[in-house]
Amino acid sequence: MPRTSLRTSSFGESVIRGMTRLADECGAINLSQGFPDFDPPEPVLRAAERAGRHGPHQYAITWGALEFRRALARKQSRFMGLELDPNEHMVITCGSTEAMMVAMMTACNPGDRVIVFSPFYENYSADAILCGAEPVHVTLYPPDFRFDPEELRGAFRRGAKALVLCNPANPSGKVFSRDELMFIASLAEAHDTFVLTDEVYEHIVYRPREHTYFASLPGMFARTLSCSSLSKTYSMTGWRLGYVIATPEIIGEARKVHDFLTVGAAAPLQQAAVTALELPDSYYGELQALYTKKRDEFLEYLRAAGLVYTEPQGAYYVMVDISEFAWASDLAFCEWLARQVGVAAVPGSSFFHEPINHLIRLHFAKRSETLSAAGERLLKIRERMPRASYNARSEPAKL
Ligand code: GLN
Repeated sequence: MPRTSLRTSSFGESVIRGMTRLADECGAINLSQGFPDFDPPEPVLRAAERAGRHGPHQYAITWGALEFRRALARKQSRFMGLELDPNEHMVITCGSTEAMMVAMMTACNPGDRVIVFSPFYENYSADAILCGAEPVHVTLYPPDFRFDPEELRGAFRRGAKALVLCNPANPSGKVFSRDELMFIASLAEAHDTFVLTDEVYEHIVYRPREHTYFASLPGMFARTLSCSSLSKTYSMTGWRLGYVIATPEIIGEARKVHDFLTVGAAAPLQQAAVTALELPDSYYGELQALYTKKRDEFLEYLRAAGLVYTEPQGAYYVMVDISEFAWASDLAFCEWLARQVGVAAVPGSSFFHEPINHLIRLHFAKRSETLSAAGERLLKIRERMPRASYNARSEPAKL
């Protein structure tokens, strides 16, 4: 039998999606893969019913249905503070997963270096490898996930074609400050580097933090490929609707990549999602209030359980420090947590390039009932902990 490509053998399957399968298998409350257990807004569901009955059921224009792009241009122009043209500045993709792949393939040649902050959402390295580029990691140091400006400068100096910026960040919950972004912008300009953003949590930011769109910084629109999606903002992760926003020159190239990769995002869902994009501004304020409440509810349980965590500034993840339990492997810890405590988390090591395995990621995009059920289970974490493991720093337990 012929051998499959070296490209695919250089990375593993997604740990996040693997944890969801484990949660399903053992009936754990799934706080691993980040998606809500509640539905999109009611008017959007009604629009989906209409689209199911009346279509369109055939291909949309490859770079996105015009009505969808018009609605997206209106909404993003308002929030990004840019004048976006639906015909010039965007390509609609199958989720931001495709958007990031399209952005990377549009920006990079084989052999190019791509700076990725670590910890990072696991797709970025795989994206870089799939387009023959080399990921170069710059650490965001826990617990507060700051980067060392000199380390970042060094990574740019060694030559980088692009930098990936996930802001608000998955998994750390970091929201990059305007000053940090301006520093990145100055390096991107000095070294003539593209910036590929993943801004899917743009509307999930906790006060007093605010989201700054990288493309809106002075001079940055020309070198930024802004990727995002409707998944998190409208609780529709399964609809797979995302986009890349950039200059007409960049979009002209990105459209070609997208066209040959997927032809297009689902036409009836684009039609229905116009209703989502046309929701009034009050929707986004309510979304922020909703997630602030969920975050506070869930963190209260973590506090009551005596767990150590970094308070997220944005997105809907929290990194919990499990050093006190002294397990040799965070993956084994997460398996134990899912099977014996009934809560599924993602082992932090799957996000880090560095050998860090004392953190796990939990998410709180869940209904109040789900969060309190998970919280009650976490309160019992110490009771359930095998004796050899709990408080036995020097002798990590075996499963
Ligand atoms: N972004 C979500 C997460 O980090 C979901 C990822 C996925 O599986 N597409 O969990």
